[in-house]
Amino acid sequence: MVSEKEANPYGNAMKQLESAAKLIKLDPDIHEILRQPKRILAVSLPIRMDDGHVRNFQGYRVQFNDARGPFKGGIRYHPNVSLDEVKALATWMTWKCSVVDIPYGGAKGGVICDPKNMSMGEKERLTRRYTAMIADFIGPYRDVPAPDVYTDSQTMSWILDTYSQIQGYQVPAVVTGKPLALGGSEGRNNSTARGCITCAREAAKVLNLPLKGATAAVQGYGNAGSWSAVFLAELGVNVVAASDSQGAIYSKSGLDPQKVQQHKDKTGSVVGFQGSEEIGSNELLELEVDILIPAALENSITERNAPNVKAKIISEAANGPTTPEADAILERNKVLVVPDILANAGGVTVSYLEWVQNLEREYWTEDEVNAKLERKMVRAFNSSYQMSQKHGVSMRSGALAVSIQRVADAVKLLGLFP
Ligand code: GLU
Repeated sequence: MVSEKEANPYGNAMKQLESAAKLIKLDPDIHEILRQPKRILAVSLPIRMDDGHVRNFQGYRVQFNDARGPFKGGIRYHPNVSLDEVKALATWMTWKCSVVDIPYGGAKGGVICDPKNMSMGEKERLTRRYTAMIADFIGPYRDVPAPDVYTDSQTMSWILDTYSQIQGYQVPAVVTGKPLALGGSEGRNNSTARGCITCAREAAKVLNLPLKGATAAVQGYGNAGSWSAVFLAELGVNVVAASDSQGAIYSKSGLDPQKVQQHKDKTGSVVGFQGSEEIGSNELLELEVDILIPAALENSITERNAPNVKAKIISEAANGPTTPEADAILERNKVLVVPDILANAGGVTVSYLEWVQNLEREYWTEDEVNAKLERKMVRAFNSSYQMSQKHGVSMRSGALAVSIQRVADAVKLLGLFP
């Protein structure tokens, strides 16, 4: 259980801003501006369910800051979505785009719903109504949505169609994370994980930890988690544990990540994978492994389990998996945490590459996309690491300092209107 204090992700995001502000001696006027999102849209979404009755869903789009470019960020469908969660995720998107130095601000969308228990038709109607309700506030130069937890390239296709029908012409650059057939980018599907494991690899270099034969645990087996496991295995890392919302599995001799994915596709869960034993979901986070990849939701590593974390490297594929209290403990215990805003920025980086390709009507190969992603990730890793070394702080503080400074510079130069 997560305590009240840890449960509010926006409180956590603001605590992080607070400590970065001290580090970079942030102008108090700019700090004041960055305490609140620029715009919050709250929309009600009445949908005809398959059984004939109407259900009214609640949706949000929070646009945190656009000083560096159009708002950018995914849309989450989950029963636990709350306005404070979406505000936090929009804040983190702002820092994320800044730390990898792509010309975007930050936003996030969320709809309170349980997509696992909805039909395709219900999800389509919900997505189209949500799009119609926020249509005036999105667009290639305004705000560009993308997938997040429990949304995917099909969701993006419906958004693209709805938005384009309203505009009267096809506008591929209004969303990213589209299928290839609609102007998606090569490499976007597994880019979050590719970036995350690039960061883990760079962190291993810093610690002089050989990856061949190292061990890892992956919490969460959605898009980011499952691909992270695959890329770790490609580097010779032994992935010994994996989990999803149904439970966790362990195998001392290592799991075959692709086979685990096939098992999950067939049965709906990683649990029951042949040759693995079931362990507690919390136990996974405390395993004796070299690398831990939290790839689920917020507040997984808290002050309660952080003292028991034995991993040397944590590369955060999820957004906000570690609370500020847990962060302090991990820092004391010398765990190298590559923070979410950096570790999972591969997704939005390739979203940016997709958007550029859409605007230019010119398409790149997967190798070209991956090479551009690799350059951006390594550069962002190095600038965050150097900042952390310069100030003798954690890599999270280093990454936040780099990114918030860039946003602050842009806000300052733009000035106030009127
Ligand atoms: N939802 C992803 C994230 O949290 C991707 C956002 C995007 O590509 O705009 O970074």
